[in-house]
Amino acid sequence: MNDIILCKLGEIVLKGLNRKIFENKLMGNMRRRLAPIGQFKVYCLQSTIYVEAEEENADMDAAFEALRQVFGIIKLSRAAGCDKDKDAIAALAVDYLRDEMLQAKSFKVESKRSDKSFPMTSIELSQYIGGALQEAYPATRVDVHDPELTVHVEIRDLAAYVHASPVDGAGGMPVGSNGTAVTLLSGGIDSPVSTYMIARRGVRLIPIHFFSFPYTSQAAKEKVVELGRLLTAYCGRMTLEVVPFTHIQEEIRDKCPEEYFTLIMRRFMMRIATRIAKDNGAKAIVTGENLGQVASQTMEAMASTQAVTPLPTLQPLVGMDKEEIVQWARRIGTFDTSILPYEDCCTVFTPRHPRTRPKLSEVEAVEAALDVTALVDEALAGIERIRLDEQEDA
Ligand code: ATP
Ligand code: MG
Repeated sequence: MNDIILCKLGEIVLKGLNRKIFENKLMGNMRRRLAPIGQFKVYCLQSTIYVEAEEENADMDAAFEALRQVFGIIKLSRAAGCDKDKDAIAALAVDYLRDEMLQAKSFKVESKRSDKSFPMTSIELSQYIGGALQEAYPATRVDVHDPELTVHVEIRDLAAYVHASPVDGAGGMPVGSNGTAVTLLSGGIDSPVSTYMIARRGVRLIPIHFFSFPYTSQAAKEKVVELGRLLTAYCGRMTLEVVPFTHIQEEIRDKCPEEYFTLIMRRFMMRIATRIAKDNGAKAIVTGENLGQVASQTMEAMASTQAVTPLPTLQPLVGMDKEEIVQWARRIGTFDTSILPYEDCCTVFTPRHPRTRPKLSEVEAVEAALDVTALVDEALAGIERIRLDEQEDA
């Protein structure tokens, strides 16, 4: 009989009446994530989501790893199934939990029956399976109060299941349960992490990349596409909006004082992001800004970029140390791609002495040399949209 995967829901169980909506959202996300791997049945009973293979030789290892990246799941366990017979269950437990039983100093068995016609009570079943395990692994003692290992036995409609030691899931809330935001995705280390953080809060994301060809190369764009693809493991499928940024940067270079280049460029990014957000019903702009990291990340600089948009800017990395951000980037699997040595539009016309404490009025005065509306419209008209689908091995 096939293995199954049991997923315990995180925060969404707290959501009262909305719970069904959250569960359905989560199950939809799980089904889409599993689709490239194989055919699986996904269903929810009593705040646990069950995943069963619906074909021979389904890759349960790949399914398990994929589900560990889906937001909204707090714990997962692999379970093995057998006939609903006490001796079959005992034999399965002895065999399936061998490694765990040999490692643990103490254990107990907890049983659950959703099929009440099973001819033993939960307590009787726990004692029976516990006895069989004790006999097979005499060095591991029974401890019902504080066991190192808890063996779970479940009698369900179609089969009995045995499992141990759940592992941590990604936590958070199901993507799509908390609205939509746009996220500014450069090729750097930070913005994939900020995108991940906001997706974890249940927000569906639309990544936007500003592209300054030929100052930044095709390879730089491919790198961002790859980062977006990696992020679909967590964010689900997305459409990357690649905004042509060359003309804007050239205009800034030609018409504004050098010390303001970065600030004005960032104000254009925010304006364009705002328009894309409005067109797609997105309600916030996510960036990977981090206080004090570079010249454009002072509070004054942030104020001058925030001034051009009515949307809240979400900056989940703002208080982190670089080392923590790097740890997250490694953990979510974007670091190695982020450090590929391709330039970003931010580094194309970098001022030698950027203004770090700009006054908003100064920035506005400098920017008056540009036809902001026409430049924004032109960039929006030239957007290239790249669909990013979930992959088997994202
Ligand atoms: P990152 O590692 O994400 O590039 P950073 O520390 O290099 O961040 P900046 O280059 O100042 O910081 O950019 C700050 C934020 O602005 C980025 O985190 C990202 O959200 C956004 N951003 C910068 N360049 C681009 C770009 N070319 N396209 C889209 N967003 C960008
Ligand atoms: Mg950058």
